[in-house]
Amino acid sequence: MSGKEKIEIDEDTEMPSRAWEGIRVHQQYIKGPHLDPSTPITEDKIRFVCISDTHGKIERSPLCMPPGDVLLHAGDFTMRGQMKEIEKFDSYLGYLPYKVKVVIAGNHDLTLDDDLSQLNMESFGISKSDIKTHLKSKGIKSVKQMLSHAVYLQDSSVSICGIKIYGSPWFCLSGHGDISGGDNNSGCVELLNTVQKRVKPKYHVFGHIHEGYGVTSDGYTVFINASICNKKYQATNPPIVFDYAIPEGHNKEELLYMDKDF
Ligand code: MN
Ligand code: MN
Repeated sequence: MSGKEKIEIDEDTEMPSRAWEGIRVHQQYIKGPHLDPSTPITEDKIRFVCISDTHGKIERSPLCMPPGDVLLHAGDFTMRGQMKEIEKFDSYLGYLPYKVKVVIAGNHDLTLDDDLSQLNMESFGISKSDIKTHLKSKGIKSVKQMLSHAVYLQDSSVSICGIKIYGSPWFCLSGHGDISGGDNNSGCVELLNTVQKRVKPKYHVFGHIHEGYGVTSDGYTVFINASICNKKYQATNPPIVFDYAIPEGHNKEELLYMDKDF
């Protein structure tokens, strides 16, 4: 993260579609790239398998998951973050063959949010004392620890074979994969600016806007909206895969020793 540019609040922050119109004329908007999941996996690249917005559906009717090294789940793995849902999701993760599974929370995964008030939880039918009782019975201290098969990121990062992955539950880009309700962008202009002007990642994997499923690029960053569920919460979209070259000095064997560190 060199040259930290300060991202100001955009004057059209309340109107992301209008903001995107202004941004779009100054940059490329490319569909793809798409990697065919049947492409052979090689030793010099990590095959990432991206999913999000599974909302408890893949556990019940497992999707055909493509082969890969690392799974990235970009949030919304439950409907309401109930203990049962998280347990099911974690055991599904345990059953998947990927060597490392990286997970972030989404706005649906309510109980992962430490700041959510009692009142908000109760409006979703979740009681904090039930959570406490549940955690106590499992001998663990936090809901995050229920994700025993995952590397859970929350405004934090992990290095996998020298590849840095940063995970944050804050969401919704403006302009890439955020068209909902017809033609309207529903993303956040400042997040797009942060990604394009400050962080400049090679890949940005996210979800939330189910209708925005797919891959686009601005010529530098590849934007992957990996929503498995469609607008009706049916798991219809296949996972999206991409390969990332392993940096010099690292190799795939490191994947086998990752679990011990978390
Ligand atoms: Mn969702
Ligand atoms: Mn969401």
